[in-house]
Amino acid sequence: MNTTYQPLEFICNPVVFLEGSPFNAASDFSQLNHHLEQRSLDDVLAWSLFTFGDRAAQVTSFGPTGMVILERLARLSPGIRVITLDTQFLFDETYALIEEVQRRYPITLDIRRPVLSPAAQAAAYGPRLWDTNPDACCRLRKVEPLNLAMENLDAWFTGLRRDQSPTRANMPIIGWDTRRGMVKINPLAHWTRSRVWKYIVDNNVPYNRLHNLGYASIGCTHCTRPTTNPTDERSGRWQNRAKTECGIHL
Ligand code: SF4
Repeated sequence: MNTTYQPLEFICNPVVFLEGSPFNAASDFSQLNHHLEQRSLDDVLAWSLFTFGDRAAQVTSFGPTGMVILERLARLSPGIRVITLDTQFLFDETYALIEEVQRRYPITLDIRRPVLSPAAQAAAYGPRLWDTNPDACCRLRKVEPLNLAMENLDAWFTGLRRDQSPTRANMPIIGWDTRRGMVKINPLAHWTRSRVWKYIVDNNVPYNRLHNLGYASIGCTHCTRPTTNPTDERSGRWQNRAKTECGIHL
């Protein structure tokens, strides 16, 4: 058997017509990933949409990789659900991009916010929880709202790439999200940052204007600075702290 190329029909296993996800914590994704690594982005997305249908959604903060995935998903599956987290601490440039995305793409945008307003959080936990306990702040404003939004999903699309940081260097295209008990799809895990930006420029995909000011990775205003280390795209996040992830991908 030729192990370096398989037609998409091989990848789109008929088991997908069963009710519910055909995968579980014991699933071995190695052969599937071997095939998908050699496929186009559209093929990876087509397999995912074929397999999970509306039980899959994209989760994005509209970073460059997420924008490329969103642009292709909107073409392949108009109306697809896209979940984003409004921590209420986002940059004006991020809110502007969200508005542009809503104008431009035929997606169903599901914006989730924390239970606690910034004022209620300050009253309950102190005025600068992002300084005193950033893990708790991320849990309240990101992880818990996202987990609520993801109930009833069997799979989610992320914008993770292997070259974003050392902690993401071994990211598979398809993996198992142990914490949530569902499949995690990283369609551009194997793309480089420059390849993502080439796609954005070539296809006139909108992006966060803070990227023009040295911000390689953009989150909340309190915890995001221009990137200082060109080999670590996320070095502007939680600067001078051991924290490298908000908890969504742990
Ligand atoms: S990134 Fe910072 S401000 Fe945003 S939720 Fe996490 S700790 Fe809070």
